[in-house]
Amino acid sequence: MLDTKSIKKDFPVLNNNPNLTYLDSAASSLKPTCVINKITEYYEEYGVNVHRGVYNLSYKATDEYEETRSVVAKFINASDEEVVFTKGTTASLNIIAASYGLDNINEGDDIIVNELEHHSSIMPWQAVAKKKNANLIFIPLDDEGRITIDNFKKVLTNKTKVVALTYVSNVMGYVTPIEEIIEVAHTVGAKVVVDAAQAAPHIKIDVKKLDADFLAFSAHKMLGPTGLGVLYGKKALLNKMQPVEFGGDMNDFVEKYGSTFKDAPYKFEAGTPLISEVIAFKEAIRYLENIGMENVHSHEVSLLKQAMEELNKIEGITVYNKTAETGVISFNINGIHPHDASTIFDQNEVAVRAGHHCAQLITSWLGCVGTLRASFYIYNDEEDVKKFVETVKQAAEYFKEWNI
Ligand code: PMP
Repeated sequence: MLDTKSIKKDFPVLNNNPNLTYLDSAASSLKPTCVINKITEYYEEYGVNVHRGVYNLSYKATDEYEETRSVVAKFINASDEEVVFTKGTTASLNIIAASYGLDNINEGDDIIVNELEHHSSIMPWQAVAKKKNANLIFIPLDDEGRITIDNFKKVLTNKTKVVALTYVSNVMGYVTPIEEIIEVAHTVGAKVVVDAAQAAPHIKIDVKKLDADFLAFSAHKMLGPTGLGVLYGKKALLNKMQPVEFGGDMNDFVEKYGSTFKDAPYKFEAGTPLISEVIAFKEAIRYLENIGMENVHSHEVSLLKQAMEELNKIEGITVYNKTAETGVISFNINGIHPHDASTIFDQNEVAVRAGHHCAQLITSWLGCVGTLRASFYIYNDEEDVKKFVETVKQAAEYFKEWNI
């Protein structure tokens, strides 16, 4: 287990809300002081634009900005040119679909998806499929709601051009066998787009080992600032792709009837970027690396196991992902809408998420309108688990009295 007593001290939101049990890190994690201080440092000490000014402060801001690119690249074992800063996972996945997708998918081609996807990993491909008259093909999920390699092989054909997959499901907490899937997908020349929004904060990612073609994640789910994300793409692919946004800083020469662009990653970063956010993001990554991603994951799994064991003893609830291998629990109080049930959690200052989690295909697959979702992170401890379990009991008891 991690030393959560000292970790908690690094998170001002926890210090300012001493009774809070924060179990909604899958939506957005809390931010440590080092990240907040780095944002302030930028604004107070060298708060100017990057890549433009030929003066000292601008060099400093640019160096700090580019240093984060290298830190991110190292974090996922990529090279600097393969790391594009975007507005988030959603933006990254949309760029891939709007650029690579529209230019490489033709009438009759297949795009493989599945029902575990977050809306931002499926809707861009729905749009591409509609525009290009291509087919969206769903990997059948197994009985637990998992993507399996065998079921993937059933839908892969020579027509498959793109496979869009979540690495870790935000509702079920399952880890997709992504490395094997990528290997098989490459045998027919398909490109694999990995939604790593729920993977990057919790498990070690190595894009080279995975051989991922594209991979996307968000800073705000991994201790970093809001509004910022990463698009990883293999250098050869990014170099061939057209930018989606055009404007300042991404061009080489602009002439009357056409322009040339900088190489990747800059051609995908038009306009003034998220400077303070990028600069501060490296502190978040360093914080996680200091703990070690293996330790982050095993800490969450240990909390998950404790919670699951206790939940198994409670009557009147349904847990949908009993075999999850990351720190997410999706459950319902039987017969009760998750929004109604969540009021009990709110009264106890236990912050859980209630709803469809922007993944309506999987909640439909589960046969419910939504779920309550508790998600653990590095600052959660056994006390949080206890309070959570007590609240689930209380909610189950309370609604039992309603005789539903
Ligand atoms: N994919 C998954 C699996 C997610 O959990 C999320 C965030 N809920 C996203 C994509 C979208 O991330 P963002 O809102 O940061 O763009």
